[in-house]
Amino acid sequence: VNTSPIRPKNSSPDNSGGIVFIQDITKVRKLEQLRTEFVSNVTHELKTPITSIRGFIETLKNGSINNPVVAERFLEIIDIEAERLHELINDILLLSEIETKLKDTNLESFDLRSTVEDVFKVMQNIAKEKNISLNNNVRDKVMMKANINRMKQLIMNLVDNGIKYNLQNGSVSVDGYREEGKVVVSVKDTGIGIPSSHIPRIFERFYRVDRGRSRGMGGTGLGLSIVKHIVNLYNGDIKVNSIVGEGTEFIIKIPSQE
Ligand code: ADP
Repeated sequence: VNTSPIRPKNSSPDNSGGIVFIQDITKVRKLEQLRTEFVSNVTHELKTPITSIRGFIETLKNGSINNPVVAERFLEIIDIEAERLHELINDILLLSEIETKLKDTNLESFDLRSTVEDVFKVMQNIAKEKNISLNNNVRDKVMMKANINRMKQLIMNLVDNGIKYNLQNGSVSVDGYREEGKVVVSVKDTGIGIPSSHIPRIFERFYRVDRGRSRGMGGTGLGLSIVKHIVNLYNGDIKVNSIVGEGTEFIIKIPSQE
């Protein structure tokens, strides 16, 4: 804690009057440290795909371009890495937008069940690749008042993880209901699970349980930070239940605005 006396103008140092300015610098330092860590993580995350793209372009220029099979494979990798960069930049922008907000705008009333249906339509193709069934168990007429795009983003990030960290022929089920003046949304998968020692950290930016595996799956490492920030924006809370090898359930409770 930094305490420095601020003296009124024209007062001599031995003047007994004054104001003591107290600032909690440990909090300021902690924020600064988080910021520095974030910038260094962002730099690293951006550099990795760029290095890979440049490497493959160099190899193509050095002759691989003349081998159509190899060239096609390399172009495919360049495409994937460029898409990763695109997603990363979008997520960074989204996170910085919601982080600075105290309240959300464009609130409207919508039906949770049909919103989950809309999210499933977008996720259908990637679910099919692993033959994962998407189950909409949201009860009838659960209305929410919120920014609908924000809620779609939240549900989409959780369903996306439920598919990514799942096994072939698994399932992702979304439930939604009212409870004690709150809207409860649960997203449950039959996937690989999260070891309990990692659970306290999964909402941190760029934190991944298994770095290599998660990157290979195409995630940005920001999905759950975005979820957490959206939940905070609505004064809600989020809980995780997970059993390794059985699956994970995220439970979100948001005070009803209706
Ligand atoms: P990513 O883009 O890597 O998926 P997230 O912020 O969405 O980043 O998630 C952080 C980490 O939490 C993931 O890398 C993964 O290790 C773990 N995780 C998130 N959701 C699940 C889930 N449903 N099942 C198992 N692990 C998960």
